[in-house]
Amino acid sequence: MRSLGILIMTGGIILLLYAIVFIDTTVWSGYGYLNNIGLMSQRQNYIIIACAAFLIGLILFITPFFIAKNEDISEFKKCPQCAEQVRKEAKICRFCNYAFTDEELKETKMEIEQNELDKMNISYEERDKLMDEYGIKFNYVTGRYRYKGFKHRKFKEVLKYAKEQESKI
Ligand SMILES: [Zn+2]
Repeated sequence: MRSLGILIMTGGIILLLYAIVFIDTTVWSGYGYLNNIGLMSQRQNYIIIACAAFLIGLILFITPFFIAKNEDISEFKKCPQCAEQVRKEAKICRFCNYAFTDEELKETKMEIEQNELDKMNISYEERDKLMDEYGIKFNYVTGRYRYKGFKHRKFKEVLKYAKEQESKI
């Protein structure tokens, strides 16, 4: 997306230069050089297209920076083989097919857990207490929390659901 943006921006600049430098809007009238309205409007059209292309290219170039900023860094891990960022839940790297070891996957799971608790600003003990209080279970195989029929990867979501259910009673 970034290289396409650069390409379109460059195209816009070249077209703009071409329109300004090479399109001669003057014609010889027999008495002197006069501006030809047809050629002038043609040049104007080129300039408008060039500016539009430049802007589109610029948008394409800038957008990925904002997307990268908005995406939660904590959702990604670095592949030890190719150093690309892949989703933390990934068992296989989508870039180089590196298979994460069970040890690495377990470590990541713990990191996700820790990260979530940090975000909620509660400790492991507090979470365990809340789990006891609401009867929330954690499945180590699927890595999901469960409250009655409701299952979710995030403790926060299950706790929210549990609280909603309890308040209805
Ligand atoms: Zn990789």
